[in-house]
Amino acid sequence: MEAMPADKRRQYLATMGIQLWERRELPGREQDVQLTEPPATAPAPAPAVKVTSTISALDWKELENRVASCTQCGLHAKRNRTVFGTGDKSARWMVIGEAPGADEDRAGEPFVGRAGKLLNAMIRAAGCKREEVFIANIVKCRPPGNRDPAEEEIAHCSAYLKRQIDLLQPMLILAAGRVAAQSLLHSDLPVGRLRGRIHHYGEAGIPLVVTYHPAYLLRSPEQKRKAWSDLQLALGVCAPGSG
Ligand code: SF4
Repeated sequence: MEAMPADKRRQYLATMGIQLWERRELPGREQDVQLTEPPATAPAPAPAVKVTSTISALDWKELENRVASCTQCGLHAKRNRTVFGTGDKSARWMVIGEAPGADEDRAGEPFVGRAGKLLNAMIRAAGCKREEVFIANIVKCRPPGNRDPAEEEIAHCSAYLKRQIDLLQPMLILAAGRVAAQSLLHSDLPVGRLRGRIHHYGEAGIPLVVTYHPAYLLRSPEQKRKAWSDLQLALGVCAPGSG
């Protein structure tokens, strides 16, 4: 193939942004043309990396802030407020329900309204005040229409609850209702089969007692006697305000 004339070649290469380095110190000889890439421009500064700690390393305040801004599952879309949990962060008892309802979603606090009042009465019956236990839910945002949280939503939210339990290290967990009991115990048995004995949660083997959800007890007051018996069982492990 016929060689491309040097001036035309220069013109093409320049159009492509390829710089030419020509050796000028050899008069009388055809000049060598060396192709190089254009000098590298200064590297763009690395984008600022937002340092986010894993949930298992967060302290209480950081964890609460993380929950408040969480969009990990679809429940974030319709919530008014996240419901992190409330109570004594060195409590011996942790009460865990299923999910915020309409009242909780407005208040940003778990177990308010009629079910909350009944829970307070149950806690008092155990010889303690509400603020002396820590109360939380399996999921931190309200499922629309007060439906049960979906498995996927529970899975997304579980790291927050696990961190709360790790930080609190309660001496007893009271799981209120089917969703809390089944989720914490990885079981599909109904509450009626899970209550009445002491289970153990997690690697630390924290004693866990299952009872009915206060909202269910409002609908089925004849079960309150069983709930009282569950509290007695829990009290046999430890009293909430003792020690
Ligand atoms: S329910 Fe839990 S995982 Fe889902 S958005 Fe709320 S805080 Fe995040």
